[in-house]
Amino acid sequence: MKQQQWWLWLIGLMLLVSTGWAGQEDTMSRARQQMVKEIEQDVTVTSGSIGRGHLSREIMRIMGEVPRHEFVPGNKQDVAYVNAPLPIGYGQTISQPYIVALMTDLLAVSKEARVLEVGAGSGYQAAVLSHLVKEVHSIEIIPQLAKECRQRLARLGYTNITVHEGDGYYGLEQEAPFDAIIVTAAASTIPPPLIAQLKKGGRLVIPVGTPFAVQHLMLVEKDDIGQITMRQVLPVQFVPLTGTRE
Ligand code: SAM
Repeated sequence: MKQQQWWLWLIGLMLLVSTGWAGQEDTMSRARQQMVKEIEQDVTVTSGSIGRGHLSREIMRIMGEVPRHEFVPGNKQDVAYVNAPLPIGYGQTISQPYIVALMTDLLAVSKEARVLEVGAGSGYQAAVLSHLVKEVHSIEIIPQLAKECRQRLARLGYTNITVHEGDGYYGLEQEAPFDAIIVTAAASTIPPPLIAQLKKGGRLVIPVGTPFAVQHLMLVEKDDIGQITMRQVLPVQFVPLTGTRE
């Protein structure tokens, strides 16, 4: 092949690849916007229980931007934007987008907040949170998931999330206290170390109940004098919090 023909062939191939890539990004972006609409519908249907008719606009904008397809296994990318939990391996799941948006909204975080997540899983919930706050610390008990999550978040350019490997029942004493804590696995009771590591004025959102049965999403608030109030928000179904105390 002559030198000039070779270059033309290469440019053609590059154009083909980049057009294909742009096409895939468009498809994902459309699917993501559809997912956002379905979250809005779920919010309307459950407004009586969750005590709000809309979630924060900022959170809905972020849900429309975070590439969920990057957080699911390769063979699930085509269904990455269904409004449902999906398997991520090791018997674990990435949570339903509506629940991710709702839990994030319930935390009512500020830009300066430092947040603890128990149950890093794929890193998707941490990624959503990281757009709203200063710092996210996320603990994962399954070492392989923690490693994959850390690598994924680094590849996607998330710099304000630290993934820790360990049992999140005990929280993260060395980084405490936190403005907000989110637990993304169901506990049989609220772990006392998490309440202790919550700042005054802070919020903890956690599913509580029996594994694989009805659980309730709970909003726990610590007021300015350290008193705790709790409210049941919604029946949910999460994988169980595991570890030595559960
Ligand atoms: N937040 C995750 C996401 O966005 O993909 C989904 C979390 S998945 C529903 C629950 C996760 O909690 C699993 O990855 C599981 O391994 C983890 N987990 C369960 N018990 C734990 C514990 N005691 N400490 C830390 N992580 C735990």
